[in-house]
Amino acid sequence: MVKEQLRARGIHDPGVLDAFNKVERHKFVLPEVRDSAYGDFPLSIGEGQTISQPYIVALMTECLEVSSSHTVLEIGTGSGYQASILAEQALHVYSIERYEVLASRAESLLKELGYNNITITVGDGTLGWQAYSPFDRIIVTAAVPRVPLPLLEQLRNGGKLIIPLGGSFGQVLTLIEKEQDKINYRNICDCVFVPLVGKYGAKTNN
Ligand code: SAM
Repeated sequence: MVKEQLRARGIHDPGVLDAFNKVERHKFVLPEVRDSAYGDFPLSIGEGQTISQPYIVALMTECLEVSSSHTVLEIGTGSGYQASILAEQALHVYSIERYEVLASRAESLLKELGYNNITITVGDGTLGWQAYSPFDRIIVTAAVPRVPLPLLEQLRNGGKLIIPLGGSFGQVLTLIEKEQDKINYRNICDCVFVPLVGKYGAKTNN
C-alpha cells in the first residue's frame, strides 16, 4: 500500500509515510472486508459511511503538514483510522462523529491500540468544538458546499484546514490557510466523499 499507492503517487512526507507503515489499517475495517483492507479504494464501515481510500487519507494528512506541537480537530471520526494517522504526528487529536455507534467503536479500538492523545465525542461537527479551540489544523472528512463558519472561526491564525467542497456527486479537495484573519483557498484535486450532515452542513434527507 505505502509503496504502490502512496509513494508512487507522490506522497513523500516521512512523517506521513511512517504513520502509514505503523498503523494497521485492517484493524479499522469490518471483519467481512478485512481481506480488502489495504486495497486502493474506500470501504464500508456501516451506517452508510466509509473509511476513505488510503491515498486520500495520506494526501489530506500531507497537505496539513502536522507537527508534534499541533492540536488537530477532525470532523467525521468514522472508523478512527484517519485520527490514528494524525495522532502519530500531532500533540492531540479531537474528533467528532455524528453516529454514536461509529464513535464508540472507534473510541474503544483506539484505546485498545494505546492512543492517549485522541479525544472523541458524538455530535454535530459543523459546529466545531469551541472548548478546545483554536486548532492548529482542522480536517473535514465529509463533503459540504461551503466551509462551516464555526470551523473557520476555530482555526488558529497561521492554521490550515482541509475539506472536500462541493455537492453530493463530486467535490474539490480544498486546502484553506488562515493568515491574519484572511482566508486563502487552494484546490488540491477532485474527490468524492459522503455528505457532511449538520447545521452548517450539506442539505440532505438524513
Ligand atoms: N475519517 C474517517 C475514517 O478514517 O474512517 C472516515 C470518515 S467518513 C468518509 C465521513 C464521516 O463523517 C462519517 O462517519 C459520517 O458519519 C461523519 N459525519 C457526517 N456529518 C457529520 C457531522 N456533522 N459531524 C460529525 N460527523 C459527521
